[in-house]
Amino acid sequence: MKIFETHAHYDDDAFDADRESIIERLSAFDVAKVVNIGSNMETSRTTDALTKKYDFFYGAVGVHPSDSGDMTEQNIEELQRLISSNDKIVAVGEIGLDYHYDEPDREIQKKWFVRQLCLARDTGLPVVIHSRDAAEDTIKILEENNISEIGGVMHCYSYSKELSERVLKMGLYIGVGGVVTFKNGRKLVETVLNAPLDRIVVETDSPYLAPEPHRGRRNSSANLKLIINKIAEIKGISPEEAAAATYENAMRMYRIRG
Ligand SMILES: [Zn+2]
Ligand SMILES: [Zn+2]
Repeated sequence: MKIFETHAHYDDDAFDADRESIIERLSAFDVAKVVNIGSNMETSRTTDALTKKYDFFYGAVGVHPSDSGDMTEQNIEELQRLISSNDKIVAVGEIGLDYHYDEPDREIQKKWFVRQLCLARDTGLPVVIHSRDAAEDTIKILEENNISEIGGVMHCYSYSKELSERVLKMGLYIGVGGVVTFKNGRKLVETVLNAPLDRIVVETDSPYLAPEPHRGRRNSSANLKLIINKIAEIKGISPEEAAAATYENAMRMYRIRG
């Protein structure tokens, strides 16, 4: 089995004590590729470094809405340089809107979301979208910016099945994480049941959101199999088929060859 981890944060402090040994053991859990995701300027730089250290690591660079308060046009230029100097940077992200913590101001979040969508368009990369409690504004911005020409994933999908149909219509992929294993994850189960198998990708969002039975503990990509198993159960296919399909989907979504 070969599993593609589409979203993790291995530069997070939670891995400071044992980062190398955790990463080196991932292949024993059938994790064949990992995309490390930047969430601010610092983690975009550390993502760049991780892709150079590990063959099976790729990266996304970008600034998370909650971190966009002090973003500048110079930051955009630096992101552009990181992208043009490293072929293993395969996406702009994570970018989007987060009204859960509702900071910084919504207008600032929107401004830098749109600006980074333009960066993706200019550099020819897909986007990793973070959207929490902000469904309508997210969809509106994506439509206004012709997201179907950019492509990407709605990561850690948390909205309704109905909304996922609009997301799929825009050509985006649905990022399925540990929540699908939660007792209160019914909404996501319905979305997975309804979505075509060729539009689902798997992610852990490590170190966050560990699936059952590890809920609340530090997460790692070693737990992806629990998510694969749950998707297989929902779709009525084998775990091998679920792993193979989501692997191919991630390769297509991130436009990785070979
Ligand atoms: Zn996120
Ligand atoms: Zn994330």
